[in-house]
Amino acid sequence: MVGGLVAGRLALVTGAGSGLGRAACQVLSREGATVIAADKNYNAAVETIKTHTALASGANDQDHMAVELDVSDSTAVRNLLDTVMKQSKVPPTIIVNSAGITRDNWLLKLSEQDYDSVLNTNLKGTFLVMQTFAKAMTEAGLPGSIINISSIVGKYGNMGQTNYAGSKAGVVAMTQSAAKELGKYNIRVNAILPGFIDTPMANAVPEKILQGMLKMVPLGRLGHPSEIAEVIAFLGSNKSSFVTGAAIDVTGGF
Ligand code: NAP
Repeated sequence: MVGGLVAGRLALVTGAGSGLGRAACQVLSREGATVIAADKNYNAAVETIKTHTALASGANDQDHMAVELDVSDSTAVRNLLDTVMKQSKVPPTIIVNSAGITRDNWLLKLSEQDYDSVLNTNLKGTFLVMQTFAKAMTEAGLPGSIINISSIVGKYGNMGQTNYAGSKAGVVAMTQSAAKELGKYNIRVNAILPGFIDTPMANAVPEKILQGMLKMVPLGRLGHPSEIAEVIAFLGSNKSSFVTGAAIDVTGGF
């Protein structure tokens, strides 16, 4: 693709093997970016590149790449940067932190292990990727855009999700703080707070609870992953050149 919102840009997307991360790869590549799809599940990341990017629709002039990455592992994150620098010579300037997990339970029953794993992936993982790749951008003297996927649950809380809600509130606070520090390098940092989006994560919510939640959504339906991905592409592009430190609800009005 010659034109497009993010033409010629290199984009790193974590959690790219499924749901919102996969949709982000799809839309960013449609808009002209070269995509690095990173996921704990390597085969799923490969599937994203093969069948869900502009490559699949015949735009084979782009060098999309699938990589295995556990975002909570600082060594793995650093190694990924080294690999990308060897291959592309420049760091990605669009970073989408979409890797995330839930381990739901009532507060009174939640194990320390389930607390730690959610915080390590959702909050620490976002921190590690953001720190590592922002540093690379500053060293290369390149402007960039970091998009962190929080959740509307981080704003209002949710029963059974003290660990998850805490991690997602942390993502917003971290985003706002990073935006303040990185503005002088022309690196923008924004968060998206999705509502209930039709992905494997949302499909894990019991049907009865989901139906109850949908009654509180004015648009009366689940969101489609592409409806988050379009906002990601906007935030990654120069169309949002004065937007930083923002936390944008994309919830159908929930
Ligand atoms: P998803 O379909 O489960 O996709 C998440 C992807 O991240 C999966 O491929 C998962 O791999 C991967 N992943 C998990 N742990 C990882 C790690 N440590 N390192 C790298 N990759 C890892 O979920 P989704 O709905 O797309 O969610 C994407 C983001 O949006 C998450 O941060 C989520 O919290 C947020 N969000 C989603 C919704 C929603 O309604 N769907 C609403 C609000 C916010 P495995 O499958 O192997 O675990």
